[in-house]
Amino acid sequence: MISRIKELMYEPEFIRNIGIVAHIDHGKTTLSDNLLAGAGMLSEDLAGDARSLDFDEQEAARGITIDAASVSMVHKFSGDDYLINLIDTPGHVDFGGDVTRAMRAVDGAVVVVCAVEGIMPQTETVFRQALKENVRPVLFINKVDRLINELKLKPEELQNRFLKIIAESNKLIKNMAPKDKRDQWKVDVTDGSVAFGSAYHNWAINIPIMQKSGINFKDIIDFCNEERQKELAQKVPITDVLLGMVVEHLPSPLESQAYRVPTIWDGDIESEEGQVMIKTESDGPLAVMVTNVSVDKHAGEIATGRVYGGTIEKGSEVFLVGSHAKARTQQVGVFFGAERVNTDKVPAGNIVAITGARGAVAGETICDVDRKIKEFEGIEHISEPVVTVA
Ligand code: GDP
Repeated sequence: MISRIKELMYEPEFIRNIGIVAHIDHGKTTLSDNLLAGAGMLSEDLAGDARSLDFDEQEAARGITIDAASVSMVHKFSGDDYLINLIDTPGHVDFGGDVTRAMRAVDGAVVVVCAVEGIMPQTETVFRQALKENVRPVLFINKVDRLINELKLKPEELQNRFLKIIAESNKLIKNMAPKDKRDQWKVDVTDGSVAFGSAYHNWAINIPIMQKSGINFKDIIDFCNEERQKELAQKVPITDVLLGMVVEHLPSPLESQAYRVPTIWDGDIESEEGQVMIKTESDGPLAVMVTNVSVDKHAGEIATGRVYGGTIEKGSEVFLVGSHAKARTQQVGVFFGAERVNTDKVPAGNIVAITGARGAVAGETICDVDRKIKEFEGIEHISEPVVTVA
């Protein structure tokens, strides 16, 4: 599997860099952990059969994912392997700045909305943070089990509830997306860019999969009422449905960098470094943006970031643009599940973990020593809308 990740790294068409964002308690952590377990990417310690962990065991295992700045999974879709890098976004809006920074590293976002509560103020904030960074959203309506088991909704009522959440999301997308993306980026229940399910019980479904599997709203209600959600999770596992949605509806770096680079970097697009970033080329001037710095008790400071252009190599001299300082990378790594795996080099389109880039802070631009590039644009922090009382 590690060697597969190292191969896929060089095929940006088969990479998806994504974040999961949500209002607090809507299920972001539960979903992230279950995706990782479902993709068979929990660490060795938990190996055994991660899929069969019951929920408490999974909760106990959480410490592992919580500390990782990024986790990676390989997912097979229509016969091809895809490398999916899931970048951690802090769960609370107090860390609004960090959410925005994480959005800088990704191309797509799964917006999780609790079916019981619906769109909340922080849902609006995370939509704004993603769309402002030119990050395309898809929608996951979570906790559907509660609509059935607690609120006892009928099939039409379920559908109406979903339609309301979808309509409200599209209103936000229309208002906040870049002008040329407003229509294109609408989520659509019929094309599968909206899914609904239960992160807790590990199942999810969307209209295309309903049509393929023959499972309808009434069946879902029966599975929930008859306490057969485990069976439902086997028929429509959340990992397959959500990662399938990510692969199909969220852009690869190759597609996304072409329109994102001009909005996050105001250097000369016609220059060599501009063109290398626009085309996600690994051969050419280096351009990395650091999005997170953490401290590991063995490796010391680890800077995680997105490689936009060129290739970063271990043991190479680089230039930190913001700090006006040279540094030497010790190790460069990619993620395997939640673990860092060192490698020799990491090319454009990927998320890299760098040790040795001493002094690098989140927001720092890293480039070659002999080809200094313009800094990535500063990140504007977006937090909760201010409510004024008249
Ligand atoms: P976060 O704050 O968005 O990361 O939310 P968590 O993943 O921590 O979930 C908040 C609470 O909702 C936890 O108690 C979860 O067990 C619960 N939860 C998450 N997803 C579901 C779901 O699909 N169904 C039900 N019934 N509970 C859920």
